[in-house]
Amino acid sequence: MSPAAFARAQWDDVARHFDDLAARPLDEETIGGWLQAWSTLEELVTEAAAQAMIAYTIDTSDPEKEADHLRFSTEILPQMEERSVELARRLVASGHSTPALATTLKRFRTAIEIFREANIPLFSELEELGSRYQRISGSMTAEWEGEERPLPQLQPFLKSPDRAERERAFRAATRPYMDQGGALADLFDRMFALRQQAARNAGFANFRDYIFPAKFRFDYTPADCERLHEAIEATAVPAVARMLEHRRRRLGVDTLRPWDLAVDPGRRSPLRPFRDAEELLRVAGQVFNRLDVQLGGQFHTMIEERLLDLESRKGKAPGGYCETLHFRGRPFIFMNAVGLVDDVMTLLHEAGHAFHAFAAHGQPLIWQRHPGSEAAELASMSMELLAAPHLARPVGFFSEEDHLRAWLEHLEDILLSLAHIASVDAFQTWIYASGEGGDAAARDQAWLRIRSRFERGVDWSGLQRERVARWYRQLHIFLYPFYYIEYGIAQIGALQVWRNSLRDPAMAVARYREALALGAVRGLPEIYRAAGATLTFDGRLIGELVALVEEHIVSIRGRLGA
Ligand SMILES: [Zn+2]
Repeated sequence: MSPAAFARAQWDDVARHFDDLAARPLDEETIGGWLQAWSTLEELVTEAAAQAMIAYTIDTSDPEKEADHLRFSTEILPQMEERSVELARRLVASGHSTPALATTLKRFRTAIEIFREANIPLFSELEELGSRYQRISGSMTAEWEGEERPLPQLQPFLKSPDRAERERAFRAATRPYMDQGGALADLFDRMFALRQQAARNAGFANFRDYIFPAKFRFDYTPADCERLHEAIEATAVPAVARMLEHRRRRLGVDTLRPWDLAVDPGRRSPLRPFRDAEELLRVAGQVFNRLDVQLGGQFHTMIEERLLDLESRKGKAPGGYCETLHFRGRPFIFMNAVGLVDDVMTLLHEAGHAFHAFAAHGQPLIWQRHPGSEAAELASMSMELLAAPHLARPVGFFSEEDHLRAWLEHLEDILLSLAHIASVDAFQTWIYASGEGGDAAARDQAWLRIRSRFERGVDWSGLQRERVARWYRQLHIFLYPFYYIEYGIAQIGALQVWRNSLRDPAMAVARYREALALGAVRGLPEIYRAAGATLTFDGRLIGELVALVEEHIVSIRGRLGA
């Protein structure tokens, strides 16, 4: 059996296998083989679904690929989830348990508790609405120098030393979201209603309360997330304000406008670390080899097996992701590279996810591999920081000076992103918990209010609609609700891995790999501990890490004379 056998599958073809598993007699003798057979079935079907999703996001304009993707995401996977919960019930009822299954059983029990048959069509409709969002945003173009271009291709012009050109690029990239604002708000209204309904069906007051068990957030609470927002507001937000004030003076402008944030403050042209996807792959391979030969070997396998689609093309869905092909035990990386430093960083990030997939595949059952996004993003964000010292030539992409510039940009991005993450999580919390999230105008107002709490030092006067458009561009809010605080939790973890690597780089990488290999068989605090970090929402440690980043920023500026 191979995933290809399921490529054209209808739900009935898959259901037969579940019928078989549901009917097999279970006892201590047979349960091991039964679990393995069930796991293999899930590997095969999710890999077929992943292949369909990959094919669609590479070419969103092909109706056949869209239909294949939709068949999996809206028909097969939601029904499969129902049947999986049924099998999970059998497993839990059998009383079978081993230490390596403890975390799996805990997840199964939670999934059983919150599962409602009435929610299947709701989640299926949400999948459909999600692909509508992707279709709308994926087909957005802007006219630039007389040419229709996909929005990611405007990114380089946001870094232009010419302020007027930056402003034009900012407005051109924001315009489509303003033009589509009404359609996207209607789409979100429907998503909001479905999510709140699903939460009520499962016995929760709102979707925020539902999402904690649904995402298996066993180790932190909504109150912890609010503590994290406050810690970021108290530490990262003032650090960003100092950083932006330095930028304002360097640029010699009265106030920083939103199009002044990406340009090099020395007003040099943006770095162009690579010409095309082939060069990006080749050099990244060298970087990973230098960091760790086994990681380098895994990346080389991905190149050989063509498991990467990197360059921006018309018709590709926006963004980047790493998807696991569970049966083959291989990851696939998708992104929209246009030749910038950001693309290098995105590839390091997605490669961290890919290394996680390789490492966790050593766990025998599919449920023992994916520990949740807080650990997944620890793998990816730590990789950005661990690989960074190797980005200079002859191994990497940059001259020594450009390497410092890129590293400075990355450290600044970390602080900016912490503030952004807190604002997106606070906004989503408001949407689902305030009672007003179904009101499109109130939503936009709440976004403005929350943004001004976390984003200081940028002059948005006269650009209120543009500022509102920012959240419509944040695809997680539409597609993966509440998937965002994980980036903040993981960044705090990754900064600790980085701090360790400053003392002992080899040890930091070794512990990183050990943590990844745990897959999902340990709880989150233990995975963080294995990587050399503490899972924390505590302002004191976060303050220390922000101060360390700021120290490095100031020191690099000194070396660059910036
Ligand atoms: Zn990620």
